[in-house]
Amino acid sequence: MRLLLAVLLLVAALPASAQKRIALTFDDVPRGAGAFLSQEDRTRRLIGALRRAGVRQAAFFVNSDKVVGAAEAQRIDAYVRAGHVIANHSASHPQLTATTVDAYLADVDRGDRWLRARAGYRAWFRYPYLDEGRRDVAKRDAVRSGLAARGFRDAYVTVDGYDWALEGRAVAAAAVGKRIDRRALRDLYVETNVGAAEFFDALAVRATGRSPAHVLLLHETDLAALYIGDLVRALKARGWQIVTADEAYADPIAAEASRYETPSAQGTLTEMLAWQARLPAPRWYERNDEAVLDRLFATRVLHEGAP
Ligand SMILES: [Zn+2]
Repeated sequence: MRLLLAVLLLVAALPASAQKRIALTFDDVPRGAGAFLSQEDRTRRLIGALRRAGVRQAAFFVNSDKVVGAAEAQRIDAYVRAGHVIANHSASHPQLTATTVDAYLADVDRGDRWLRARAGYRAWFRYPYLDEGRRDVAKRDAVRSGLAARGFRDAYVTVDGYDWALEGRAVAAAAVGKRIDRRALRDLYVETNVGAAEFFDALAVRATGRSPAHVLLLHETDLAALYIGDLVRALKARGWQIVTADEAYADPIAAEASRYETPSAQGTLTEMLAWQARLPAPRWYERNDEAVLDRLFATRVLHEGAP
């Protein structure tokens, strides 16, 4: 807890700068049921909230196997009609360390057959679980070259706030009828993601000497639909500018993606570059930890136990 407090104080002490830029990306589209909204309502609210927040172009990373009917395809089309772009997150969301190179690339190809002809498509690939083969260098390199041969660019992320973990806890609490303090949930979602942006930006500056155009990993959740406007407002208040996914992936840091050398290929590009640069710890955001988020969710959102 003392370390968490220290991190928060450090984040609060960082000077706001107009130079900080970040793009919003949403994975696992079309994602399954959440705690609060129908999936159609989620899409409507998310599109409206992004528009009102002035977010011109976010990226939505699709798992084509989850498109089981017209409703899912219509949700994806609605994001594109609103000006956002879509890209490949594989067909079935496999974990690279748990499958073979051939099966993995076949899954990517299957996802791409669904996506490639659609409006708003970008030839970007986002690794499920941010798993790029971990310690298996041969597998890592085989998939990297397989993706490059198919014309994909690596849709890395530089900022991760574990939004999926908060969403999962909200779903679990709602399923057993617990009372969810929605204001507290909103505040925790916003604070955790803003804290992630500030932490990873400081890490990028230490690792590379500059602040890149960042890519924030989010998921297509009810929390995003409900609180993305609050998150954008909070980011802007801290000096962040929301940029398009196209602009973020045009950043020079993209040249570092798929080239870094680390003992384990996984997670954010920022962490991998920090590791490659042999920066001392902490190289990871303290809230990228389910036990930490568990405690925060239980005490602040469910008002259970002592803080
Ligand atoms: Zn995913």
